[in-house]
Amino acid sequence: MMENIIHDYLRPKKSFPHVWCPGCGDGIVLNAMVRAIHSLGKSKDEVVFVSGIGCSSRAPAYTDFSSLHGIHGRALPFATGIKLANPKLTVVVFSGDGDALAIGGNHFIHACRRNIDITVVVINNNIYGMTGGQASPTMPTGAYGATAPYGNLDRPFDVCKLAAAAGANYVARATAFQFFQLEKCIKEGIEKKGFSVIEAVTPCPSLYSFFNNTGRGVDMLKKLRDRAVTTQKAATLSPAELEDKIVTGVFANENFREYCAGYAELVEKAERSKKNEESL
Ligand code: SF4
Repeated sequence: MMENIIHDYLRPKKSFPHVWCPGCGDGIVLNAMVRAIHSLGKSKDEVVFVSGIGCSSRAPAYTDFSSLHGIHGRALPFATGIKLANPKLTVVVFSGDGDALAIGGNHFIHACRRNIDITVVVINNNIYGMTGGQASPTMPTGAYGATAPYGNLDRPFDVCKLAAAAGANYVARATAFQFFQLEKCIKEGIEKKGFSVIEAVTPCPSLYSFFNNTGRGVDMLKKLRDRAVTTQKAATLSPAELEDKIVTGVFANENFREYCAGYAELVEKAERSKKNEESL
């Protein structure tokens, strides 16, 4: 039976009750993240948990790591500053699809290309949950939301393709139904030196379901289970067969130079050259 360790990582009672609706996927992703850190044997003081704004961004307030609940779309600049100031820390970011890819979209692509050793979990429920159900950058074309009453015209971002193309060292996707796969991806992301992006596809049974009639949390989880296909399986399917499928697995696993290491080398080089000049 799975050992339940989440209670050891939650803050005392003053942070509760939490804001998440019954059936929300955010708690599942938080549990997977906590278990990944636990399995890596990291102490709470070694981990900094950063977020922006949104339903999932409440997670750092609920857990007993060093936490920073920042402002909308700016989790990655905060996380970058923390990591550069103390590269020994393990920095994990939670960011919703709106937070990461709309207001924070520019920070997201530049963090990928910078390839700094931060792990970001993009909790993708295809809608702005906290602010009332507006269309997010990952809302499927034709889906409904508060700002898309006749159906969304835009095409959704593919989070993993975007992150891999922008230069992240590690990119993976799992759904909230695939709990152990999700935990494994987060663990691999934390272990990887460089920028890691894990897309966690989750249900929003309140707002997304309200506009799209997708049922309760458990119905949405079952749909995630039915729609998920591995990268290997996806390679055998036609574009028509892949429609509506969620391809899960690892999309990038590279070893490009990590930013803090590059920065340290640069400082050392500059100091050496200064000393040489002074000795002339
Ligand atoms: Fe979760 Fe959606 Fe409720 Fe936000 S609105 S807490 S994403 S179910």
